Amino acid sequence: MPDTRKRAREKHPGSKEELKEETIVKEPEDALIKEIDKEAIEAGEGKIPEEGVVRGITISEQNWKPKTEFGRLVFSDKITNIDQILSSSKPILEPEIVDKLLPGMETVLLNIGQSKGKFGGGKRSIWRQTQKKTKEGNKPKFAAYVVIGNRNGYIGIGYGKSKETMPAREKAVKNSKLNLISIRRGCGSWACGCKEPHAIPFAVEGRCGSVRVLLKPAPKGTGLIAESEVKKMLELAGVKDVYSKVHGQARTKINLVKACFEALKQLSRTKIKPEVRDQLGIKEGLI
Ligand SMILES: [Zn+2]
Repeated sequence: MPDTRKRAREKHPGSKEELKEETIVKEPEDALIKEIDKEAIEAGEGKIPEEGVVRGITISEQNWKPKTEFGRLVFSDKITNIDQILSSSKPILEPEIVDKLLPGMETVLLNIGQSKGKFGGGKRSIWRQTQKKTKEGNKPKFAAYVVIGNRNGYIGIGYGKSKETMPAREKAVKNSKLNLISIRRGCGSWACGCKEPHAIPFAVEGRCGSVRVLLKPAPKGTGLIAESEVKKMLELAGVKDVYSKVHGQARTKINLVKACFEALKQLSRTKIKPEVRDQLGIKEGLI
């Protein structure tokens, strides 16, 4: 690196100042990121296991003052089943609704970011770091992607971004509760035909950006043949046996996650005749 700079200086003596400025600015930028990382670790993030599993992030129900119609109905126990809300085509606007109707949801942070490093970057991390160039220097921002699920037919994804790590995670958890879907399960594998809801009833495809995710039913005992982030989502959805295939830039994890979510949505969008429903052993939501 120094050699090339020297050469550049010799060629264009006018750009000397620019080069100097660049070297001066770069040092504190790196130091700042390290400092923030350290703070984040001290704030208790070091406790998160490698897979990023965090349990028990729930908003307390006691301080909840419902603002929407659904919120009021759930609060007064007039709605006791989440399916009533999901089938209404109106959005969930309060995360407390999900907290109350589906207790025991698990929260998993997906590895959407990557730590800095030479030769193609370092380890995958749950924080996606981005920077904005300003007059004062670089301003870093952190983003997180959360999947919530009860391992039994319900799953939601959420994206959160903030200047610090913790608020980003909180935002993501909140958004994931507003983005809840129910999963249609069944056994669509020709090699199995057991009519139990251990896999998905038919093959589906989801897209986002260049990423295409294909999910196919697999016979009982196969397990999840899928990319690690897709696997986390399917596990939380309660699907046990699936073959999968990914096309496109799957290294862009945000697009991969969105594409997988679209594929899972597609399961419920497809219309099915009642006789086929029995044949494939289709069940929706909680089993
Ligand atoms: Zn089966």
